[in-house]
Amino acid sequence: MGQGESVIHHDLDVRLHPGDHRLDVTDRIRFTAGESLVFYLNAALTLEAPPDNVELVSQETNGAVPAKAYRISAAPDQTTLTLRYSGLIDHGLSEEATEYAGSFPQSAGVIADEGVFLAGSSLWYPHVEGRYVSFTLNTVVPARWQTVSQGARQLADDGRVSWRERHAQEEIYLIAAPFHVYSRPAGRVQAMAFLRAEDTALADRYLEVTAQYLAMYNRLLGPYPYTKFALVENFWETGYGMPSFTLLGPTVIRLPFILHSSYPHEIVHNWWGNSVYVDYRQGNWAEGLTSYLADHLIQQQRGTALIFRRNLLQHYADFVSEGRDFPLAEFTARHSSSSEAVGYGKTQMLFHMLRQRLGDEAFVRGLRRFYRQYQFKQAGFAELAEVFQGLDEADLSGFFEQWVQRTGAPELQVKTVETAEQDDGWRLTVVLQQQQPGAAYRMSVPLAVTLKGVEQAVQTRVEMKQKQQAFSLRLDAKPMRLDVDPQFDLFRRLSRAEIPPALSQAFGAERVLLVLPAAAAAETRAAYETLAASWRQGQSAEVDVRYDDTLISLPDDRTVWLLGGANRFAPVLVAALAEQGVEQRDGQVVLNQRHFDPARDAVVLAARRAGDNAHALVWLAADRAAALPGLARKLPHYRKYSYLVFSGDEPTNELKGQWPVIASPMTVRLAEQPIPMAQLESRQALAQLPTASR
Ligand SMILES: [Zn+2]
Repeated sequence: MGQGESVIHHDLDVRLHPGDHRLDVTDRIRFTAGESLVFYLNAALTLEAPPDNVELVSQETNGAVPAKAYRISAAPDQTTLTLRYSGLIDHGLSEEATEYAGSFPQSAGVIADEGVFLAGSSLWYPHVEGRYVSFTLNTVVPARWQTVSQGARQLADDGRVSWRERHAQEEIYLIAAPFHVYSRPAGRVQAMAFLRAEDTALADRYLEVTAQYLAMYNRLLGPYPYTKFALVENFWETGYGMPSFTLLGPTVIRLPFILHSSYPHEIVHNWWGNSVYVDYRQGNWAEGLTSYLADHLIQQQRGTALIFRRNLLQHYADFVSEGRDFPLAEFTARHSSSSEAVGYGKTQMLFHMLRQRLGDEAFVRGLRRFYRQYQFKQAGFAELAEVFQGLDEADLSGFFEQWVQRTGAPELQVKTVETAEQDDGWRLTVVLQQQQPGAAYRMSVPLAVTLKGVEQAVQTRVEMKQKQQAFSLRLDAKPMRLDVDPQFDLFRRLSRAEIPPALSQAFGAERVLLVLPAAAAAETRAAYETLAASWRQGQSAEVDVRYDDTLISLPDDRTVWLLGGANRFAPVLVAALAEQGVEQRDGQVVLNQRHFDPARDAVVLAARRAGDNAHALVWLAADRAAALPGLARKLPHYRKYSYLVFSGDEPTNELKGQWPVIASPMTVRLAEQPIPMAQLESRQALAQLPTASR
C-alpha cells in the first residue's frame, strides 16, 4: 500500500436484497484535490448515470472477480465524487480442497438468503489499487437481518445500523445475516457476538474470553486498536480474522477448544496484520508473530511449550524437503503443509530465538515499540529488524538476514565430548558441528549439564559462528550428562532420532507405497481401494498401490502404509515397535498393555524402518469398512501422533500419543548408567490470562 499517500474515504449507503442476490449502493468518495484515480468495480455492477468525468478504461478478468476499471478525471479543486451503482453478486463457494487439512472453501463474494459475504476482493465498492480506505457504511437490510463490518457500530433512531472506521484500512468488509446480537463492554472496547441462532450461553462464553484476552494483550502489547471485537458466525466453515472481528464457521465456533486456540489467535491479529499491515514484498511476518503470541504463549501458560516447539520442528523436518523449502522473505500465505511449516513454524522460531537473545523484558519492549510506530501502516521484516536493533540490547547484526533471507535450516550435531578432572573442579569440552550445506549459521546454542549429585542443571549458551567449533565449560562437580538445545529453542532441522516417528512423516513423504490386504473381507478390501484411490488423487506425492500377496518384501526407498489388520507385512512393523511394547497376538494389537481388535477398533501405528531412519512405516489395523472413509478424513488432523485408536463408524478417537524419544543424538551420556536430565530453570509465559469477571 502506498505509504504516505492519503487515505481514500467512502461514505457508503448500501441496500442489500439477499433474495435477489443484489445490492444498491450510493458512495460518496473523498480524495485529495484533483487526483486522477483509477478504480475497479465488480463487472456485474452497473454505474447509474456516471458523472461526465468518470470513464470506463478497461475490462479485466484476471482478479478474483471480473472487473471494470474506471478513471476519474477530477477537476483541480475537486475532492469528492458521488457514484450510484447496483447489481448482482453471487460468486458461490469454491470446492473444498481435501489434500490440506488447514483449508476451507472460499468465496469471492456472495449475497444470498443464507447470508452476505463481501470483501475487498469482491470489488463491491470502488477499489483503488494500493490505497488505504476509511469509511462510514450505512446499511439497509431485510427485517431481522444485521450487518457487520470493521470499526464501531451505531444504531440510528429508525433502527438502521451504520459502521464507521476512521483508521486506514486495507479493505472494507460487509457481512450480513439474520444474526442474534450479543454485546458487553470490555474496558473501553465492546465485546460482541453475532450468532445465527439464539444461544446466550455460547455468546456469554465468547464475550467473557474476549474480555479476558483483550485485557491480557492490552497489557502486553499496547492498547487494542479498535472499538469492538466481534465473534461472527459464518454460514460456511471458515477461520478468518478481519480487523475488529473474526468470521468463524458454525462447527468451528462450537468446538470447545477454539476459545483458547483459534479465537485468541484471531484477536492477536488485530495487532499484527490487521493494524500493523504486512508489507508482502518482504514476506509475511504477521502469521508467525501472531502464532507465537497466541498459540505458543498459551502453550507456555500450560507448561507444554517445549512439546509445541518440538512439533513445529518435526513438522518442518517431515514436510519441508529441500525442494519445497523457501526463505521467509517469500512467504505470503499457507497453501500446503510445507508452506505452513515455514511461514508459521520457522517464523515462530525466529521470534522465539529473538526473545531468547533479548530477554523477555526487552523483547516485549520491542514489540510495543513496533506496534506504536507502525500502527495503521505497512511494515516488513526490515522494519522489525530496525526496531529491535534500535533497542541496543544485543548484537542482532545478521540475525534477521540469516533467518529471513536464507533458505533452509542449520543441522546441529555433537561431534565429541570430553571431560577431565582438574584441581578446581571439572572441565567439559564439547565440539559442535553444523552439517547443513553452505555457510555456518550464527547461533546461540543452549547447553544443559547434569552434574553428579546436583538437582539443578548447569545451563549456559554458547555462541556458535563456525561450522565446527569447540566450547569449554568449567564445572564444580562431575558431569554426568550433556544436553544440547534440550528445550528446542533453536530453529534447526531435527535429526530423525530426536523425534518420535509420527504420521506427519508419512504424510510429508514424497514417495509412498500403500499395501492392501489380500486376505481381508471383500467389503474391507473395497473400502481400502476407495481410500487408496482418494489418497492417490489428493496428494502431490508419488503414490503406488499394491496388494500384499504381490510383494515378496517391502521396498526400502519410500514410506509404506500397511492397510488392514490382516496385512501380511504387519509383523515388520510390530518388530520395529518392539521397544515401545507393541505386539500382535491372536489377531489383536497390543498397545499400552491394552488389546484392540481391528475388526472393532481402528489402530494406527507409526514406526521407522529398521536400521533406516529416513522412511516411515505406518500400519492402519482397521477392518471395519464403514469406519474407513471417516478415518481417511480424520487422520491428517492427527498427524503429530505416533499411535492412535479410533472406535465406531464415525470413527471417534479413543487414544492418541507420541512414542518417547529413546536415543536423541543431542543427549550425551557421560556416566556409566543412563540418568535423567537434571532440572532446568523454570520459564514464565509472556503474559497471564486475568481471571474471568464472573
Ligand atoms: Zn493467523
